[in-house]
Amino acid sequence: MFDAREAVCRAVEAARDEIVELTAELVRIPTVNPPGEHYADCARFLGRRFAAMGLEVEYHAAEGRPEHTEAHPRLNVIGARRGSGGGPTVHLNGHFDVAPAGGGWSVEPFGGLVRDGRVWGRGACDMKGGLAAAVFAIEALRRAGVALAGTVEVSGTVDEESGGQAGVAWLAEQGRLAKGRVDYAIIPEPLNVDRICTGHRGVWWFEVEARGRIAHGSMPYLGVSAIDHIGAVLEAVRTELQPELAKRTTRMPVVPAGSGRATLNVNAVAGGQAGQAVQTPCVADRALAIFDRRYLVEEDYDDVRAEVVALLERVEARVPGFEAELRDRMLVHPTETPAGSPLVSALQRGIREVLGREAAIVASPGSYDQKHFDRIGGVPHCVAYGPGVLELAHQPDEWVAIDDLVASTKVMALAILDLASAR
Ligand SMILES: [Zn+2]
Repeated sequence: MFDAREAVCRAVEAARDEIVELTAELVRIPTVNPPGEHYADCARFLGRRFAAMGLEVEYHAAEGRPEHTEAHPRLNVIGARRGSGGGPTVHLNGHFDVAPAGGGWSVEPFGGLVRDGRVWGRGACDMKGGLAAAVFAIEALRRAGVALAGTVEVSGTVDEESGGQAGVAWLAEQGRLAKGRVDYAIIPEPLNVDRICTGHRGVWWFEVEARGRIAHGSMPYLGVSAIDHIGAVLEAVRTELQPELAKRTTRMPVVPAGSGRATLNVNAVAGGQAGQAVQTPCVADRALAIFDRRYLVEEDYDDVRAEVVALLERVEARVPGFEAELRDRMLVHPTETPAGSPLVSALQRGIREVLGREAAIVASPGSYDQKHFDRIGGVPHCVAYGPGVLELAHQPDEWVAIDDLVASTKVMALAILDLASAR
């Protein structure tokens, strides 16, 4: 009897060297973001691969987005294979932009070196390895001769590292990565080969600008220091707000565990003549702090914001002359894969078969493109699952293990088989 699951795993195993080579080739295209270099090269490279695999290829330039420019075009690519009909569409999505290399490397960041059972380089882990695994999960199903009722798709998208507005968010807005076109989405971000990531916390970036009154620095009592007032805000955040947030834990299994609670980080502080080479004696009439508040699926955004408004009101009540404005910078709502999602059970089964152990269900400390599938596209059945060690993302000497590449390719292929098989 033809055992499709075994045939698919054999096809992946036979493609081991090709998966490694594709990962290395992707690493060699330095798609650094910001500013978004070589996006079109990478999209076209993937598109040629998709075509060679017999997939229907679509290119989607993020027309109308301000960051889609002639110098740095935002080009996304999708490859699709239609099923025989009646099955769901399973979409595998990987961002191909990478963080800047930075310093501290002992290997060439964009060399695509293969050594010691690993592929090395910027993006090997986050997440060109995952993208290569996704490509070969789909190819292995074809090579194994498996008939699918559902459609399988793979996409390479831009700008995840800077919010994904011209990538997954844009494709979701256009209705392409959205309900009606996509039923299940797997994003092979590096969450470790035996972990399924079912979502992330919300993100609210806001800034507080304090306004004072300028005066001569030798007579500071004649002015009002905006820096002192931002100092009062920071003090209130540290002594009143942060201890409160630390008490709030989430039901979502966020890793590392320290991020399984509400947090607030001060991103930036500037005031007065900060950054100016030549200084004049002046009381600062302006100071600004930028904050990164991570909030829980159990918290309501309106309450989260109201809490900060109340904090500023308390500071105002006790600091004479306090005047400040609160401004929103970015908002990402939390997202959570529905309990009992068939997507999660399909991946759990695959991990059990391929790795011989139970999958851990986790949530991510930071956000990634799942929010766009869910909140814009209306595709709640979305997870992150892929090869790569989470802690290596954005580090120097980033790598992905070849065994993990192969294992995650098998797991994704088996999950597709479960979800989209002809019945
Ligand atoms: Zn990533």
